[in-house]
Amino acid sequence: MSDSEAAPVDVLTPRDVPLGGPRSMTVRRTLPQRTRSLIGAWCFADHYGPDDVARSGGMEVPPHPHTGLQTVSWLFSGEIEHRDSLGSHAYVRPGELNLMTGGHGISHSEVSTARTTVLHGVQLWVALPGEHLHAERDFQHHVPEPVRTDGSQIRVFLGTLAGTSSPVRTFTPLLGAEITLEPHATLTLAVDAGFEHGVLVDQGRVRVADTSLNPAELGYVPTGADTLTLVNESDVTARTILLGGTPFEEEIVMWWNFIGRDHEDIARAREDWMKELGGPRFGEVPGYDGAPLPAPELPSVPLKPRARAR
Ligand code: MN
Repeated sequence: MSDSEAAPVDVLTPRDVPLGGPRSMTVRRTLPQRTRSLIGAWCFADHYGPDDVARSGGMEVPPHPHTGLQTVSWLFSGEIEHRDSLGSHAYVRPGELNLMTGGHGISHSEVSTARTTVLHGVQLWVALPGEHLHAERDFQHHVPEPVRTDGSQIRVFLGTLAGTSSPVRTFTPLLGAEITLEPHATLTLAVDAGFEHGVLVDQGRVRVADTSLNPAELGYVPTGADTLTLVNESDVTARTILLGGTPFEEEIVMWWNFIGRDHEDIARAREDWMKELGGPRFGEVPGYDGAPLPAPELPSVPLKPRARAR
């Protein structure tokens, strides 16, 4: 099948999740969920704001660990100060990719800055394939040049789309882009038919194939389509995040901030983190004023792999 318009689109609706902390902000989580764990290697999607930080408290996430994944921070508004155990100290700003790799182990803190009045963006995770599960710590920053077409603007932060490519290396074939559409604009994109895609709507109402997506919904498009058509059905500028990748065939176990292949991987990572809260596996986060986050208790039953695609 090469006709994207015929492909059925699954609508994944978000659930509200508090990010933690005493004055915690709430995020809308569309991945993972019971019916779908991954889109390509994208395994986690949190969408938040626009939040008035004077009311929400903003983002204040103390040092915490990661394994087996990459984190992508992408903002529409506001600013986040990132520090990690690689020694990176960066400001995450709208339209700028910040990709952190935590294979074997990394820790980082994320705090919205005092300059921030409105915080609005996404936090995404990419699962690492087995052969790179223990990849070294890494942090990359990239500011994509926007591609403007008739009625749309595209910022490709990972992969290739609309004749432009991100130089940022990924461990599996992956696509990540912000696309804005003027009111009632239509955009048809050539895409890789071997990729599955997800369209996360931030604002506006966007039709993908025959399915209309409301803000905060994530539309899943299976492999087999070599074009993807987005239609802004609303009277406002629509904004979406387009995710894509080749289906991720490995089973993964995800718990708290860790990804592994089995319960033991996770239990070991948790133990290593709790032993020293900043020991050699995860490192310390220089410059953060406060204590690292302890891990929650492991459930009493063994962790099971996430369901793979149907
Ligand atoms: Mn994190």
